[in-house]
Amino acid sequence: LGKGRDRSHRDEDQAATARLGRLSDALRSGRQERQLREYYQTLYATWGPQHWWPARTRSEVIVGAYLTQNTSWNNVEAALRRLRQARALSVAAIRAIPTARLESLIRPAGYFRQKAARLKIFVRFVDRRYTGSLSRMFAQPTGKLRAELLELNGVGPETADSILLYAGQQEVFVVDAYTRRILDRHGILPANADYEEIRALFERALSVLATTQEASRPTPGRNPPMLSSAHQPSPMSMVERSSLAQIYNDMHGLMVAVGKRYCLKSKAQCESCPLQKFLP
Ligand code: SF4
Repeated sequence: LGKGRDRSHRDEDQAATARLGRLSDALRSGRQERQLREYYQTLYATWGPQHWWPARTRSEVIVGAYLTQNTSWNNVEAALRRLRQARALSVAAIRAIPTARLESLIRPAGYFRQKAARLKIFVRFVDRRYTGSLSRMFAQPTGKLRAELLELNGVGPETADSILLYAGQQEVFVVDAYTRRILDRHGILPANADYEEIRALFERALSVLATTQEASRPTPGRNPPMLSSAHQPSPMSMVERSSLAQIYNDMHGLMVAVGKRYCLKSKAQCESCPLQKFLP
């Protein structure tokens, strides 16, 4: 009888410890979500919209999302200019263009052979599964399409989510190296945290704002400073999207702005950064 009672006390202790662990995880997660909402409010009020993604069409966003891997945006812009001049910025044009010609046009973006092959694979995917129609492709549920994109050669989570959010206006937050660095330096999550964990944290935090957007979306200053990392308004940045997709769009652009301007890899310039007040 004594042994049985001991075991039952041990089980109760373990259950209580597990409950406490879950409670403390929930509290930490709630605190992190609140922090991210405050980051968004502060940055948006300071700088306003960043007008991502700078492009005229969905195809241009998709091509840009592939080209931007492992290179600077300036190089991507040079490659996009050449593609535009050659009228090779559509699914139909990429389908028709010889691979060698595509490689030569995107050369400024680096890894041009690999990237040309990947663009051809993407077009084959759209052709086979969606009869060549981006509209049909983006009409799919986000989770299904995301899984399909992640199956493609050269498409990791950041590229897939950029395509979904910026070309498809679907409600997915894009995680990049700037975001990781900021979270790490603020003690929220380590830089090597799992992509999905970071994405889920931002999506939980920001989705609350979409339901009360009018009340929660801050008004940028009358003339928020035009940052070098901000883009000019473009047809794709101004396209109609849900409140939540707009918040994900703005937040990603704002994190990039912090990363490019203040939270440099070599040195964090916290003195003048709008997020300084949130440092632990
Ligand atoms: S530069 Fe800004 S974002 Fe980076 S650690 Fe300093 S305050 Fe935080």
